[in-house]
Parts: sequence; C-alpha cells; structure tokens
Amino acid sequence: MRSKIVAGNWKMNKNLAETEALLTELAAKLPDTNAEVMVAPTFVNLAAAVQSLESSTINAIAQNMHFAESGAYTGEISGDMLVNIGVDTVILGHSERRAYFGETDEILEKKVKAALAKNLRVMFCFGEELADRKSGNHFKVVESQIKNALFSLDANVWSSIILAYEPVWAIGTGETASADQAQEMHAFIRKTITEAYNAEIANNVSILYGGSVKPANAEEIFSKPDVDGGLIGGAALVADNFVDIIKAI
Ligand code: PGA
Repeated sequence: MRSKIVAGNWKMNKNLAETEALLTELAAKLPDTNAEVMVAPTFVNLAAAVQSLESSTINAIAQNMHFAESGAYTGEISGDMLVNIGVDTVILGHSERRAYFGETDEILEKKVKAALAKNLRVMFCFGEELADRKSGNHFKVVESQIKNALFSLDANVWSSIILAYEPVWAIGTGETASADQAQEMHAFIRKTITEAYNAEIANNVSILYGGSVKPANAEEIFSKPDVDGGLIGGAALVADNFVDIIKAI
C-alpha cells in the first residue's frame, strides 16, 4: 500500500528564528494522522530543523542536492552531506529549479541516481506549463519528463520514489488544477508507469499534487483515488493552514 504524504516546501523563506518558531508551532498543533508529514526548510536551516524535530514525527527534508560526490562545485550540497545531518528525503526537479536554475531532464536523471545511491528517498517534481495545457500537450510533456529522468531506473529502486505532479500554471498563482484534472493526470501517470514497469510499481508509488493547495481545496483534491497527498508551497508557511491541509487527508 502506498503512503499518504503531506509535504511543505518552504522554498527561500524563513530565517533560523522563524524556522524554529514554525517548527515548534507545527509540532504542537500536529493532528493525529496516518499521513507522513514533511517540511523542507532552506539548506542553511536544515540541520537545525532535523534536530528540533528529533522527537516529532515530522520529517525535515531537502529542497535539492547536487549529483557530484564532492569537490569544486561552489554553492552546492551533496547527498552525503544530507545523509550526514540525518536527512532521508530530497525534493528534485521542482519547476523553479527547472525554470530559474537550468535543470534539465538529463541533469535530473543524474541527481535522482546520485540521491538513490545514497539511499535517499526522492520526491520527484514535474508538470506542464500553461502553453502545454492550452495546446493539449500536457500528457505528452509529463510523460517525457518522467520517462527521461526516471525510466532508466531499476524496478527495485521505485520504492524510494515519490512523485509530485505540479502543473507550473498552478504554482504560486492561486490557480489550482481542478480535482478532476489532478485525478486525470495522476491516473495517466500510473498507466505510464504500468506500461514502462508493471502495475505493482505503479500502484505502490505515492503521487502528490502540488500547486496552490490550501485548506479550502485540499479535501476535494485529496479525495481523488490517485491523489496520495500534496506538496504545499505558500500555505505551508502558516502553521494553521498547513495543519488544516494535513487534517484534510
Ligand atoms: P504553491 O507551491 O502551493 O505555493 O502553489 C507549490 C510548490 O511549488 O511546491
């Protein structure tokens, strides 16, 4: 059975004091849930977050990593460094990494393999742009994103993969894919994985939806059979909103 997951992507928000304050509030307000709850603070506050969540079930995860082992890559963070501070999951392929930092499918394939080689779980993000959806190419675009970065992986590593479908036009825009649009794409993703691998892998992988999820729409989106949770940006920065989204799953 695949797990339900609610993850907060804090992006480039919250300094150290704000990180500690939000984590303390979240830990205190965390509802009883079967879902895995994750938050991704910035790198500079990640070790502190892991420590402050030591006695909590909330998992602090990374927003990115580099594919190289170590060396002359100024400004980058390796998989080993994440593992060394107690991180077990890394977000890769977020649309902002693709759009602003030039991350291609090819680079992402290397990053995914490097993370898996360190026994990190990978939350792999992908999703079409508005023009793709308007031209009816959204299924093709999504298929090629997951195929290019993930379909060279061995079947046995898929238990360490979490997928996050995030249509770019819905991220930070206040515009959400409808629950039916999310369900339609998630079912398509499962079908694509079934064809490339098998039904067992497709049925066991958690597929999260991301893009303007908030307390008001979370329940409807999460009610869809192929939606296993959410990757939450803006609404994850306010404890009460994030807690309400967790309650919706
Ligand atoms: P948003 O961001 O919830 O603010 O739209 C989602 C994301 O980028 O993961």
